[in-house]
Amino acid sequence: MTRIVGIDLGTTNSLCAVFDAHQGPVLIPNAVGSVLTPSVVGLLDDGRILTGYPAREMSVTRPERTAARFKRFMGTDDHRPLGDQKFSAPELSSVILKTLVQDARAHLGYQVTDAVITVPAYFNDNQRNATKLAGELAGLKVRRIINEPTAAALTYGYHEKEADKKILVFDLGGGTFDVTLMEIFEGTLEIIATAGRSQLGGEDFTESLTRHVLTEAGMEPERVEELEPLRYTRLRKLCEQAKIQLSDEEEVKIALPDAEGKLAENGDDITITRAAFADLCAPLLDRLKQPIARTLRDGECTPNEVQDIILVGGATRMYLVHQFLADYFGKQPMCKHNPDEVVAMGAAVQAALMDDHEAVEEMVMTDVCPFTLGVEVSKRLGSSVRDGYYLPIIHRNTTVPVSKEEVVATLYDNQSQVMVKVYQGESRKTKENLMLGELEVNGIPPGPAGQPIYIRFTYDMNGILEVEAIVHDSGLKFQTVLTHHVKGLNEQEIQRAVDRMQEVKFYPRDELRHQHLLHYAEQVIGEVNPMERERLEEALDQFEQALFDTDRELFEHRRGLLLETLDNMGYAFDDPEDL
Ligand code: AMP
Repeated sequence: MTRIVGIDLGTTNSLCAVFDAHQGPVLIPNAVGSVLTPSVVGLLDDGRILTGYPAREMSVTRPERTAARFKRFMGTDDHRPLGDQKFSAPELSSVILKTLVQDARAHLGYQVTDAVITVPAYFNDNQRNATKLAGELAGLKVRRIINEPTAAALTYGYHEKEADKKILVFDLGGGTFDVTLMEIFEGTLEIIATAGRSQLGGEDFTESLTRHVLTEAGMEPERVEELEPLRYTRLRKLCEQAKIQLSDEEEVKIALPDAEGKLAENGDDITITRAAFADLCAPLLDRLKQPIARTLRDGECTPNEVQDIILVGGATRMYLVHQFLADYFGKQPMCKHNPDEVVAMGAAVQAALMDDHEAVEEMVMTDVCPFTLGVEVSKRLGSSVRDGYYLPIIHRNTTVPVSKEEVVATLYDNQSQVMVKVYQGESRKTKENLMLGELEVNGIPPGPAGQPIYIRFTYDMNGILEVEAIVHDSGLKFQTVLTHHVKGLNEQEIQRAVDRMQEVKFYPRDELRHQHLLHYAEQVIGEVNPMERERLEEALDQFEQALFDTDRELFEHRRGLLLETLDNMGYAFDDPEDL
């Protein structure tokens, strides 16, 4: 076993894997026996933290005390309220990472301290650094941040060492979309090009469906979301289930909850067919096209030349996505690897590569820089000088590590100082790109305008950028390394976040299964009719009471009764432990 674990920190679910000398990459089960840990955090009234399945169930009945989908605001200053507290995306993610590490420790029998964590290829520097910070808040040494499609490619490459093909990784998760073109040849994996959208994923399909159902029912989606959150969260959950059902069925019925989020016995429902769902989602499918076209263009490849399409992310299970891909590429995508698991497994392969594990010694991997990197320059247009233009130095999809140089020049006579502002992005104007940092160059010897300054960018496999500026005439050299810049946080604030997260108290790991059942049953209460509700409440009260009792026999008995009651009502509890 490698000591470094591989972690897929997903919008909806997170997974952890380790590389085993005999079995290759293997996934680690969590406290409730599943390899998927929902990326949901809940705060109980007593201040303890719940994560994963129990928190996901809790999010339906107590949305104000739970946080989900926080990966979507990684790298921003946003905070999510959780009860009377507020948490940033790295803080919430660190709670998930800590859970995964605790599970890994329980499963492997040794302390886990190092990890490779995956991020969407299109995560910018802020988002990557926020992810790294999340790892550090969880007490982990983040050995490398790798791109999710690159990880998927590593799983593919590990299993198909002999292949010689062009492959496209199509990654549609809960909240992000990435597409990556790669070539595999005699054990060498070469990432050719990558592109994506950080605000597009399966959740948008659920959202579209939720809004459609509300509109069909004569309601205004925005008003319902704001004024009737229980109706909204319950309906969203039903729409998510309906969306998943539509992956296998021709049509589904979606029941309409009342303002309290409850379902009446003979309440209204709305029928959605696959075709109607596809129409509804046409604008979303359209948004998938641009990153695909850009990747193929950058990689000088036509849709026909792509030999295999690897699916990553739960949302690629949608029937309409398969149909979309078949139309675009003229071939069906490959379904050999589980789209939920392929990224975490690849992160474990990366961990093995970093550990120089002999099982991967024949594998070589090259990656690309997903963005253009450059500096701000001014342009002299006629008699006026205009600032804010972008001079690319490393173009997107250049193979890394890479070192490139460009020359800029002083604008005025006797200019002694230049501020080199470093940006990431594709726009012609810097204000539309992301600023990464700056480097002050001074001591330029007096002279006429136009004195050359050489700017060299060196970008490594970890996405760390070194910027160097050399004043040509004096040979003066200035240097900075742009790394670990977390938006809106200085050193002290980072330390405060570390201290704060150390104080977080987790619900005991070996009792999480019971919390899972408790919150599951609580949310079923909102769905059953009044008679059943009374019976279920009674079984639930007794179970809850037994949770505080030391009599294990009584506890097991009441747990059995609650499971049976749920089963009889058609809401059998899927305990991942029993799967
Ligand atoms: P991920 O972030 O990769 O875990 O993807 C989660 C997204 O995949 C969520 O939006 C889920 O609703 C969606 N998803 C999971 N399973 C299915 C399925 N069988 N059919 C359609 N969407 C699914």
